[in-house]
This record gives sequence, C-alpha cells and structure tokens, in this order.
Amino acid sequence: MASLVPSLGQLVSDATCLFKKLFNDEAPKIAACAPGRVNLIGDHTDYNQGYVLPMALSLVTVVVGSASSGQEAIIVTASELADEPKKVDLSLPNEGFPSFPGLPHWANYLRGIMHHYRALPLPGFRAVVVSSVPLGSGLSSSASLEVAFYTFLQQLRPAPVPAAAKHPHNMMLPPPRFTFDDGDKVAKAIACQQAEHTHAGVPCGIMDQLVSVLGMEGHALLIDCRSLESIPVPLSDPGLVFLITNSNVKHSLASSEYALRRGQCEKAASILGKPSLRDATVNDLEGVLQPIQANFGQKMDYFLNKSPDNRRPHIDSKHFWSTIKSRAQLDDVTYRRASHVIGEICRTLKAAESFKNGSFQEFGKIMVESHNSLRDLYEVSCKDLDDLVCAAMEVEGVFGSRMTGGGFGGCTITLLKADAIHRTIQNIQERYSGTPTFYIATPSEGARVLNLS
Ligand code: ADP
Ligand code: MG
Repeated sequence: MASLVPSLGQLVSDATCLFKKLFNDEAPKIAACAPGRVNLIGDHTDYNQGYVLPMALSLVTVVVGSASSGQEAIIVTASELADEPKKVDLSLPNEGFPSFPGLPHWANYLRGIMHHYRALPLPGFRAVVVSSVPLGSGLSSSASLEVAFYTFLQQLRPAPVPAAAKHPHNMMLPPPRFTFDDGDKVAKAIACQQAEHTHAGVPCGIMDQLVSVLGMEGHALLIDCRSLESIPVPLSDPGLVFLITNSNVKHSLASSEYALRRGQCEKAASILGKPSLRDATVNDLEGVLQPIQANFGQKMDYFLNKSPDNRRPHIDSKHFWSTIKSRAQLDDVTYRRASHVIGEICRTLKAAESFKNGSFQEFGKIMVESHNSLRDLYEVSCKDLDDLVCAAMEVEGVFGSRMTGGGFGGCTITLLKADAIHRTIQNIQERYSGTPTFYIATPSEGARVLNLS
C-alpha cells in the first residue's frame, strides 16, 4: 500500500495545537506552506545550467506563527529527525550583523533564509514547523522548509513594492540588504538556494527551490536552469501513475560526492572551453578524442615516412598539441561525468516532448537510459536504488523507472499504468531487501499562504 499522506488541514491543525501548547495557548495568526518535489528526469543537470523536469508534491512543510513585540525569533520544529534542540531562538539579522551558521544544523536553513530574506528588517516572531516531507530522502524537505519559511516571513511583514527594488537574476551578486520584497518568485527561489549554500553548506542547484515556489497542480515543470524559465507539462492522464519508492537508505557519501561531482563538471566544461556543460555537445566531447586519434595517426605516418603519396601531411601542430593537452586533462572519470550531463540534458528535453505526445513507452525507455547513465557514468546510484529499479521494471504495465535526486540512497520514480500499481508495489516489496515506503506522486501547487480563520 502507498503511504497515506496527511492532509494539509491535518498538518495545519497539528502545527496550531503545538503552537498553542508552547506559547500560552495563543492561536497563531499566519501560516504558509511549500511542497517537496520529485524529479521525473534531469538529475545533476541543474548546476550545469541544463534542463530538469520536476513536479511539486502533496508532501508539504507548514509554518504557522505570529509576530511578537520583542527582538526574538523563536522557532520550533515538530520533526523527530531534526537534530536537537528542536526549539531555537535566532537573533534577527541586521545590517552589519549578519547571521552565521551554527547548531542545531536544521536551524541553519532558517538562519540562511533570514539572512537572504529580501525585505529586512524583520520584527520578532514565534513559529512552529510541521512537515510531511520525509527528511533526507531526496524529496527535498530542505527546499520545502526554506520556501515555506520564506513565504511565512513574507506574511509577517507584507512589503511595499517599489519598482526599483527588483532583484537581478544573478547568483554572483550579494543579496540585496534592507530592500523591499517585490514578490518576484524567481528571486525568492534564488534567495532560498543561497540560504542553502551559505548557511547549510550544500552547493545545490536551483531546481528544488524553483519547483517548490512555482509548482502547478496537475503539471510537471520543464525548467531551463540557465534562463530560469519554466514550461508546464500536463500530467493529467488518469490511466497513469508516477510512483515514488523511498529506499529508506541514505549513504553518508552523499554530500561529499555531490560537491566532488560539481567540481568534475566544472573541470570538464573548462577543458572543453565552454562556460558550462549546458554549452557542450556530444560532438564537443567526442571531438576532443577524434582529432587526437586522427592527428596522432597522421603524425606517426609522417614521422615514419608513411605518407601514402609521399607528401608531408598537413598537420595543424598547434591544434594537435593543444588537443593532446586537453585529452591528457580530460581523464576517464571527467569524461564520463561530462558524458552523463550532456546526455541527460538531451534526454530531459526528449522525455518532456514524449510525455506531451503521449508516447509513454518512449518516456519510460528514456527514464531507464537516465538511470543507467547515473549508475555507470555519473556513479551516484547504489545497490538499493538499482534493485528497486530492476524490481519495478519486471512488472507488466511499468513504462520506466529510475533513481531520482542526488543519489546514494533516497528514492526512485516509476511511470506505470494506474491498474498496475498494486502488483508493482507487491513485486518491489518482495524483491527489495530493505523496507521501502511508497508514495503516489500527485502533481501539486507551489508555495502558498494559508488562511487560518
Ligand atoms: P532532502 O532535502 O532530500 O530531504 P537534505 O539533506 O537536503 O535532504 O535536507 C534534510 C535536512 O533539512 C534535515 O536533516 C534537516 O536539517 C532539514 N529539515 C528539513 N525539513 C525539516 C523540518 N521540517 N524541520 C527541521 N529540519 C528540517
Ligand atoms: Mg535537500
């Protein structure tokens, strides 16, 4: 059976009860929520400025609270899995007194949001966080926490909208301090991503925050992580289901390997002479090899005096030596990392097109290609995820399955016929050695303000 997801109403009610219990029976005055997400295809492409195809989920983080007269920012999480203490008093950020990361770790996401919030200064407040997004499972509880908290802060201090305060979509610039919130949703996602970089120490791409802000009911979003534009892709066929299978394992390698992969991609782009791997093609990648092979043969023939017509072959020696140099730098691992990213960007576009055309077989085939590439070229899968994909693919009515998210544990996503759901879950339960959890992925709305009355 797929897990029952607590309704939004239930989460708000739980958060409200906890708030009253903690704060003298006062009722919270404002509330906001933001969803977790699952990525259908396009993994490890966002930080290479490529394409991704995520959907926002009905799993959400809810923040309820009220402004208070003092300078305290007291926040409590109900999450069992967050590190202790669950209640923190964070100092309000001020010009010249930026907030720094510290302990507990979970509060760094909030410190980061307060630091990058675009309409400082903030009043004091009290808040309670409740979430149905499983923590650390690759469904982006972190982005849902960041975006829900940001949306909460926006209600705490509704801001005027001067035209001049628009944030440039440039991650290299420092966050604007003491400006006004113009309501720009993309700028909000960027501020949340920055919070994760600077305060949680995770150099994530923009996908999680963007889909948590912009998610649309009944749709996935094809996001161009360079222009930050997104195109809604309808997922409304009642005969189809996307099934999330949580392996319930997370290997400790995940964060160090993630940073390593980012570095390898940057190295590959620089060797290929491209600003990012988004700009590189398969020909660019293979082209690094081919001239070397061709030139090398030619050069050898020349040295060995084997030119067929006894004429000196034309060799552009500058190009020859520079490609030899590039190839020497593009070691096998870097080559394979680049090969995954370049292939995955193309697969994501092809998959979105297939879904729009109703070619679900094709979409499923591309999902499996993506999994194999993540497993063999990018090396971010693990036995648990491979076993889950194999078990799903054995079932009639399954179109495709793949690991999703950063890897080294977390979840798989499977596209199947709605009438194949029970036998798919059953087969996975029988074949998988761990204890999986299942969710039906319901494409849902992005962050929103909730009415408490
Ligand atoms: P994912 O985003 O895939 O769930 P991450 O490792 O990126 O996994 O983020 C998980 C971390 O985010 C948790 O360990 C915790 O620090 C923080 N977090 C997420 N949701 C909550 C929450 N509701 N309460 C407290 N901390 C949370
Ligand atoms: Mg995360």
